[in-house]
Amino acid sequence: MTRIGIITCSRYQSCGGGKCFRALRERTGGFARYAKDEPLEVAGHSSCGGCPGGNVESVPEEMKKNGAQVIHLATGLVVGYPPCPHLREFKELIEQKHGLPVVVGTHPIPLKYFTAHEHLSFWKKADMDTIAGELLREEKGMMAAHD
Ligand code: SF4
Repeated sequence: MTRIGIITCSRYQSCGGGKCFRALRERTGGFARYAKDEPLEVAGHSSCGGCPGGNVESVPEEMKKNGAQVIHLATGLVVGYPPCPHLREFKELIEQKHGLPVVVGTHPIPLKYFTAHEHLSFWKKADMDTIAGELLREEKGMMAAHD
Protein backbone atom coordinates (compact mmCIF):
# COMPACT_ATOMS: atom_id res chain seq x y z
CA MET A 1 0.00 0.00 0.00
CA THR A 2 1.29 3.43 -0.92
CA ARG A 3 -0.45 6.59 0.23
CA ILE A 4 -0.14 9.64 -1.97
CA GLY A 5 -1.02 13.30 -1.88
CA ILE A 6 -2.01 15.23 -4.99
CA ILE A 7 -1.45 18.96 -5.45
CA THR A 8 -3.15 20.63 -8.39
CA CYS A 9 -2.78 24.02 -10.07
CA SER A 10 -5.32 26.47 -8.66
CA ARG A 11 -6.11 27.73 -12.14
CA TYR A 12 -7.99 24.45 -12.59
CA GLN A 13 -9.57 24.26 -9.16
CA SER A 14 -13.00 23.53 -10.59
CA CYS A 15 -11.62 20.43 -12.37
CA GLY A 16 -13.48 17.27 -11.36
CA GLY A 17 -10.27 15.24 -11.32
CA GLY A 18 -11.51 12.67 -13.82
CA LYS A 19 -8.24 12.27 -15.70
CA CYS A 20 -6.13 12.09 -12.53
CA PHE A 21 -8.30 9.47 -10.85
CA ARG A 22 -8.59 7.46 -14.04
CA ALA A 23 -4.79 7.45 -14.37
CA LEU A 24 -4.45 6.43 -10.74
CA ARG A 25 -6.83 3.54 -11.29
CA GLU A 26 -5.20 2.46 -14.56
CA ARG A 27 -1.61 3.13 -13.39
CA THR A 28 -0.72 5.43 -16.26
CA GLY A 29 1.12 8.75 -16.47
CA GLY A 30 2.71 9.65 -13.15
CA PHE A 31 1.17 6.55 -11.59
CA ALA A 32 2.76 4.08 -14.03
CA ARG A 33 5.59 3.67 -11.53
CA TYR A 34 3.26 1.71 -9.20
CA ALA A 35 2.43 -1.92 -9.85
CA LYS A 36 -1.14 -2.50 -10.96
CA ASP A 37 -1.78 -4.78 -8.05
CA GLU A 38 -0.29 -2.40 -5.50
CA PRO A 39 -3.04 -0.62 -3.56
CA LEU A 40 -2.86 3.17 -3.82
CA GLU A 41 -4.70 5.44 -1.44
CA VAL A 42 -5.18 9.18 -1.83
CA ALA A 43 -4.26 10.61 1.57
CA GLY A 44 -4.80 14.20 0.53
CA HIS A 45 -5.87 16.34 -2.43
CA SER A 46 -5.52 20.08 -2.63
CA SER A 47 -4.46 22.93 -4.87
CA CYS A 48 -1.42 25.17 -4.69
CA GLY A 49 -3.61 27.98 -3.40
CA GLY A 50 -3.07 30.23 -6.40
CA CYS A 51 0.06 31.91 -7.77
CA PRO A 52 2.69 31.87 -6.44
CA GLY A 53 1.60 28.67 -4.68
CA GLY A 54 1.69 29.51 -0.96
CA ASN A 55 -0.30 26.41 -0.03
CA VAL A 56 2.59 24.24 -1.14
CA GLU A 57 4.51 25.41 1.91
CA SER A 58 2.01 23.92 4.35
CA VAL A 59 -0.42 21.46 2.81
CA PRO A 60 2.09 18.60 2.37
CA GLU A 61 2.40 18.54 6.18
CA GLU A 62 -1.29 17.73 6.54
CA MET A 63 -1.00 15.08 3.83
CA LYS A 64 2.01 13.59 5.58
CA LYS A 65 0.15 13.47 8.90
CA ASN A 66 -2.56 11.54 7.11
CA GLY A 67 -0.03 9.03 5.86
CA ALA A 68 1.09 10.42 2.50
CA GLN A 69 4.44 8.95 1.48
CA VAL A 70 4.71 10.63 -1.93
CA ILE A 71 3.39 13.89 -3.36
CA HIS A 72 2.28 14.08 -6.97
CA LEU A 73 2.19 17.48 -8.65
CA ALA A 74 -0.66 17.32 -11.13
CA THR A 75 -0.05 17.24 -14.87
CA GLY A 76 -1.82 20.59 -15.19
CA LEU A 77 1.30 22.24 -13.77
CA VAL A 78 3.24 20.91 -16.76
CA VAL A 79 0.81 21.66 -19.58
CA GLY A 80 -1.13 24.64 -18.27
CA TYR A 81 -0.93 27.92 -20.17
CA PRO A 82 1.72 28.80 -19.24
CA PRO A 83 3.26 25.86 -17.37
CA CYS A 84 3.74 26.57 -13.69
CA PRO A 85 6.94 28.60 -13.31
CA HIS A 86 7.45 27.21 -9.79
CA LEU A 87 7.58 23.47 -10.50
CA ARG A 88 11.19 23.11 -9.44
CA GLU A 89 10.76 25.24 -6.34
CA PHE A 90 7.71 23.21 -5.29
CA LYS A 91 9.58 19.94 -5.74
CA GLU A 92 12.61 21.15 -3.80
CA LEU A 93 10.52 22.69 -1.02
CA ILE A 94 8.38 19.59 -0.48
CA GLU A 95 11.33 17.22 -0.61
CA GLN A 96 13.53 19.27 1.70
CA LYS A 97 11.03 20.81 4.11
CA HIS A 98 8.60 17.91 4.38
CA GLY A 99 10.87 15.01 3.53
CA LEU A 100 8.46 13.60 0.98
CA PRO A 101 9.52 12.54 -2.51
CA VAL A 102 7.79 14.41 -5.32
CA VAL A 103 6.61 12.99 -8.63
CA VAL A 104 5.80 15.53 -11.33
CA GLY A 105 2.67 14.26 -13.01
CA THR A 106 -0.63 12.57 -12.48
CA HIS A 107 -2.51 11.73 -15.68
CA PRO A 108 -0.83 11.31 -19.09
CA ILE A 109 -0.45 14.54 -21.05
CA PRO A 110 -3.32 14.76 -23.55
CA LEU A 111 -1.79 14.54 -27.04
CA LYS A 112 -3.32 17.83 -28.18
CA TYR A 113 -1.53 19.63 -25.33
CA PHE A 114 1.70 17.77 -25.94
CA THR A 115 1.81 18.70 -29.63
CA ALA A 116 0.92 22.30 -28.77
CA HIS A 117 3.75 22.53 -26.23
CA GLU A 118 6.63 20.37 -27.38
CA HIS A 119 8.20 22.98 -29.69
CA LEU A 120 7.48 26.04 -27.58
CA SER A 121 10.61 27.82 -26.45
CA PHE A 122 9.42 28.31 -22.88
CA TRP A 123 8.70 24.60 -22.53
CA LYS A 124 12.21 23.80 -23.71
CA LYS A 125 13.62 26.49 -21.47
CA ALA A 126 11.81 24.95 -18.52
CA ASP A 127 13.66 21.72 -19.36
CA MET A 128 10.50 19.68 -18.94
CA ASP A 129 12.32 16.60 -20.18
CA THR A 130 14.34 16.58 -16.98
CA ILE A 131 11.61 17.29 -14.49
CA ALA A 132 8.66 15.57 -16.18
CA GLY A 133 10.39 13.06 -18.44
CA GLU A 134 8.09 10.18 -17.59
CA LEU A 135 5.12 12.17 -18.87
CA LEU A 136 6.91 13.34 -22.01
CA ARG A 137 7.99 9.83 -22.96
CA GLU A 138 4.47 8.42 -22.61
CA GLU A 139 3.30 6.38 -25.55
CA LYS A 140 1.41 8.67 -28.00
CA GLY A 141 -1.62 6.40 -28.17
CA MET A 142 -2.02 6.75 -24.41
CA MET A 143 -1.74 10.54 -24.74
CA ALA A 144 -4.40 10.51 -27.44
CA ALA A 145 -6.67 8.51 -25.16
CA HIS A 146 -6.61 11.48 -22.77
CA ASP A 147 -7.54 14.18 -25.33
S1 SF4 B 1 0.79 28.29 -12.18
FE1 SF4 B 1 1.79 27.30 -10.42
S2 SF4 B 1 1.70 28.76 -8.75
FE2 SF4 B 1 0.21 29.45 -10.32
S3 SF4 B 1 -1.75 28.57 -9.74
FE3 SF4 B 1 -0.77 27.07 -11.09
S4 SF4 B 1 0.42 25.65 -9.80
FE4 SF4 B 1 -0.14 27.46 -8.58
